[in-house]
Amino acid sequence: MATALQARCVFLGAPGAGKGTQAKKVADGAALAHISTGDMLRQEVAAGTALGRQARTFMDAGKLVPDDVIIGMVRARIQQPDAKTAWILDGFPRTLPQAEALDRSLTGATALTHVIYFAVPEAALVGRLSGRRTCSKCGAIWHVEHKPTRRAGICDACGGELAQRSDDRPEAIGKRLEVYRSQTAPLLAYYRDRRVLREVDADRSPEIVYQELLKLMQ
Ligand code: AMP
Repeated sequence: MATALQARCVFLGAPGAGKGTQAKKVADGAALAHISTGDMLRQEVAAGTALGRQARTFMDAGKLVPDDVIIGMVRARIQQPDAKTAWILDGFPRTLPQAEALDRSLTGATALTHVIYFAVPEAALVGRLSGRRTCSKCGAIWHVEHKPTRRAGICDACGGELAQRSDDRPEAIGKRLEVYRSQTAPLLAYYRDRRVLREVDADRSPEIVYQELLKLMQ
């Protein structure tokens, strides 16, 4: 069990780089709030809210949801009591305007402590995304080849049914990687210039990546 960390951290990387899996694990072990904009949007979609209906068309097409929608959602989330001092942002920021808005909303005492880039060669990402399955009950993430469940289609952790995310289908994957290259990858230079960027080689086993993250986040 990891000790509590006072980290305010961004996990940055392409879709399929393992940010969500690691963010869940680190946040659980170190008492940090796990703020995944993708999970928040999927909850809105599942609940059929106006925001969810608006977001869904972008998500299914592999495009980014407009900045103002996402920025408002994250600002509200980091005001909540459990996220006042320590959190991991998973999947946000994804554009320069989002990164600038985040900087503006964090004052000295709540400034970012780490930005960690999950480096995975692009060739590995497509296989990771197309084989990914998520438990529709507990959210656990599996993979048909790299992390299969004992019974096909059934979550080992809770017995829930596994589903493929609609944006993990081949049509959307190419678009998401293209959006990553054009809109999110420029954030590497943005954070490198601010001297907060750290890199983890995320093309290794989840356990090794996890141990390395804990070291980087001390
Ligand atoms: P993720 O689970 O992080 O891969 O996000 C799934 C989808 O939600 C993305 O492909 C986008 O359509 C949308 N999304 C999540 N985070 C953001 C963000 N920070 N900015 C814009 N769209 C986002």
